[in-house]
Amino acid sequence: MCGFTLESVDLSMLSCNLNHMSTPFVTETQVLTGVPVVAGVAYAPVIRPGARPSVPPTEAAEIEEAARPAEVTRMKAAAAAVAERLRDRAGHATGVASEVLATTAALAQDRAWLGDAEKRITAGTPAEQAVGGAIAKIADALAKAGDLMAERVTDLRDVRDRVLAQLAGLPEPGVPVPDVPSVLCAEDLAPADTAGLDPALVVALATTLGGPTSHTAIIARQLGIPCVVAVEGLDAVAAGVPVMVDGSLGTVTVSPDAGEAQRAVARAREDAERIALWTGPGATVDGHRVAVLANVQDGAAARSASQTPAEGVGLFRTELCFLNRDTEPSVREQAEIYAEVLTAFEGRKVVIRTLDAGSDKPLKFAGHPDEANPALGVRGVRISFGNPGLLTRQLESIASAAQATGSDPWVMAPMIATPDEAKNFAAEARSFGLTPGVMIEIPAAALLANHILEHVDFLSIGTNDLAQYTMAADRMSAELATLTDPWQPGVLALVELAARAGAAVGKPVGVCGEAAADPLLACVLVGMGVTSLSAAATAVPGVGAALAEVTLDRCRAAAAAVVQTASAADARSAALAVLGAKTG
Ligand code: PEP
Ligand code: MG
Repeated sequence: MCGFTLESVDLSMLSCNLNHMSTPFVTETQVLTGVPVVAGVAYAPVIRPGARPSVPPTEAAEIEEAARPAEVTRMKAAAAAVAERLRDRAGHATGVASEVLATTAALAQDRAWLGDAEKRITAGTPAEQAVGGAIAKIADALAKAGDLMAERVTDLRDVRDRVLAQLAGLPEPGVPVPDVPSVLCAEDLAPADTAGLDPALVVALATTLGGPTSHTAIIARQLGIPCVVAVEGLDAVAAGVPVMVDGSLGTVTVSPDAGEAQRAVARAREDAERIALWTGPGATVDGHRVAVLANVQDGAAARSASQTPAEGVGLFRTELCFLNRDTEPSVREQAEIYAEVLTAFEGRKVVIRTLDAGSDKPLKFAGHPDEANPALGVRGVRISFGNPGLLTRQLESIASAAQATGSDPWVMAPMIATPDEAKNFAAEARSFGLTPGVMIEIPAAALLANHILEHVDFLSIGTNDLAQYTMAADRMSAELATLTDPWQPGVLALVELAARAGAAVGKPVGVCGEAAADPLLACVLVGMGVTSLSAAATAVPGVGAALAEVTLDRCRAAAAAVVQTASAADARSAALAVLGAKTG
């Protein structure tokens, strides 16, 4: 979870549309579809976050000059109370939940909106309108900035609602604590809503908005509860209506047959128990080895992943260590951070990715902030073209961490487009004694994987970006989530091409995008010739257990069936028909 402040945002644009469409509620049996995020099945009545306080109109009556200082104090006290409560909850939570709450607490005290609200009150606006106006202004600027910044709009509006409730003396808005196990459904969930949820009481999450990488998805993965996002029609399902959420199929069945739903839950529970028994190492039932690895973003994540059966780290996203940094960390500082991850997986495989800054992961000290189209701009390895020292210093840091920990990490560059880029990166990495590879995230790189492999020792397929660029669909867009589905046959054709290129020369080709977290798809990828799978640590046992149920021949037959299909849905069905339900 990245912490950030609002002061760097361009606030020149105003106006914030806070109106929500109202929809009639549905109660008859109906299957709604969305994007599956966390596997599992749950059946329970719906709860919805409590009503948010209404945002007062911006044109408000002026308050008297003498009363303004007290009004400023009242506004600041409300913000401080909200922050204090969130910090208190952060202190009682753990892991990502704690970080999310602490980040929201910091946002409640952010000087950018507080300063603007204070100015408005000093000019005569009452506190409620001042808070609404100041936050609307920043939220609008963030929404226009797009990508990661836009994701913060939900967080910011959540802070606004909490402060408004505090000012009005109302209970804190957000998720009610249910009396019975319930499915939490919402348009979108603010991080502070989802952080600290009790998985015994909130047994599944479903949202109308959000993508596979949204906060909702991250928290659901941590809690290990089924989750489906971007569910069309979910807003029309009222609180109290029983629903069955299937986090593998990506469906929300409204008012299902109770008996059938209970049987589906029981089957999913058996699957979960079977998965929990899997301890690795990764292999098909007939003994074909496939390393099952974890994706991590820092030392803490690596230490927690090392408690799972993950055999190593297939993707260390180094840029996520530095999202808060204004300046480039020194070689020594970087080396210490990298050494933490190497130490957590001592003696095991660790693949470190060099900075993938830009687009949805902007770093203040690297990249081009003013691009019109950042996903197609100077991001990933391209940043080093204009700033070669940045890459050199990072490789030096990795080499230093390797030496200090006695490890032999592999390094890979993100967003490689041409064999020449791969050649240059490999030469530099080798000059530091490191084993070089590259990510295959751009269709051109997949098409020329054979030429790229002349220069590097391994490939790692990033299916998140590969899907984005193959389908020309923003990976952050909930509206386009069906296009960025890694089951899209167009995407899988490119994956197969890269995997075959690796097999032809006997070099490893892994997958480290979200595709590797889907147990059914993981088996298909193995059938295509992929040699390792790297996913969120929580997905590792499910992937390993699925692989342990099938033969390599079945995986190959599933891959052959999938590449004949013409849609993501048909590809999934074709794989299920060959591999059976246990992997799905
Ligand atoms: C990917 O694109 O699939 C990938 C693993 O990289 P990231 O998600 O960090 O862009
Ligand atoms: Mg990527």
